[in-house]
Amino acid sequence: MPIYVTRSSMPKLEDYIEEIKPIFESHHLTNMGPVYKKFQSQLITYLNVPELSLFVNGHMALEMAIQALGLKARGEEVGGGEVITTPFTFVSTTHAISRNNLKPVFCDIDPDTYTMDVNKIEELITDKTVAIIPVHVYGNICDVHKIETIAEKHKLKVIYDGAHAFGETYLGEGIGNFGDATMFSFHATKVFHSIEGGAVAFRDKRYGVPLHELKNFGIHGPEETSAIGGNAKLDEFRAAMGICNLRRIDECIAARKAVHDRYFERLEDVEGIKLCKPQEGVTPNYAYFPVCFDKDKFGKSRDDVFSRLREHDIYSRKYFYPAINELSCYKGQYNMNTPVAHDVSMNILTLPMYEELDLSDVDRICDVIIENNR
Ligand SMILES: *Cc1c(COP(=O)(O)O)cnc(C)c1O
Repeated sequence: MPIYVTRSSMPKLEDYIEEIKPIFESHHLTNMGPVYKKFQSQLITYLNVPELSLFVNGHMALEMAIQALGLKARGEEVGGGEVITTPFTFVSTTHAISRNNLKPVFCDIDPDTYTMDVNKIEELITDKTVAIIPVHVYGNICDVHKIETIAEKHKLKVIYDGAHAFGETYLGEGIGNFGDATMFSFHATKVFHSIEGGAVAFRDKRYGVPLHELKNFGIHGPEETSAIGGNAKLDEFRAAMGICNLRRIDECIAARKAVHDRYFERLEDVEGIKLCKPQEGVTPNYAYFPVCFDKDKFGKSRDDVFSRLREHDIYSRKYFYPAINELSCYKGQYNMNTPVAHDVSMNILTLPMYEELDLSDVDRICDVIIENNR
């Protein structure tokens, strides 16, 4: 049996049917109906955030959070505003900036957490900088306090891409409470999902109306459309899936923890392999299991390990590779001086990680990596 890098968690079919019955009865399929509202209120409780707006996916949530915060307006001309972000992320983060006619300015990353290197942010700030968009990579939490200090000093907005950080807390606070806004993704491959889906958590109530209207064409009332919005509404069926999965989230994370712990035990002391250490003060969600290879010490490169795993029908992922500023749609147009992100992208591999992954399969994967199997 092949082992894939991920496998979506599923609720019991009967639970889902139970949850969608009222939708069949009401014929209310979308446009922020009762299931949407129920899901929203359950998430506010679970994530421990004051305000939350739901979206059809995480990407549109981020695009519209950028718009709702009015970042576009602060650039001198269209495309004038600069946003400091990381090149070590999924393309969505950078696309959301670019598609808002803002300019991504790439800040290098920390070699241990792979999140934005907070000591390199200030040198990138210019009079055109409007915001910082950092990413909680693999669920590793950014240095949120340092970022807040920098943002306050330079009057910048902060939007976190928290696609990997669902349900995490830092010093007892829900991770969606930092910065001006945090995006979460509920894509099928994430720790928590609603098939497709996403959210923006925020503290300032004033963002509620723009977020709500932007995802519904900018419609303000029956005869008034006050913004040029799009369509990014989460429908009732996906909200129902979210409700079912939220019920199981704690057991899902516990199962991932067991997988994580087994990997850790097997790989921690292997020369030339670097793992992410648990972060102090963070309740992790075990979203991914990234491994960084040092070819000189380990004897094999990341690409060698990737291929060897494939020969054994095991699918790992070069995540993230290439770094975003090396992709053809961005390459050469923005600053390329991010050597740590480049190095990490060349040497990192995320191993299979999902709720139902057997510990015996984790052993099989580790055996192949350390060539313990023949
Ligand atoms: C998944 C992901 C997104 C996009 O979320 P979708 O719900 O798939 O649109 C954005 N950023 C990061 C870091 C992601 O992993």
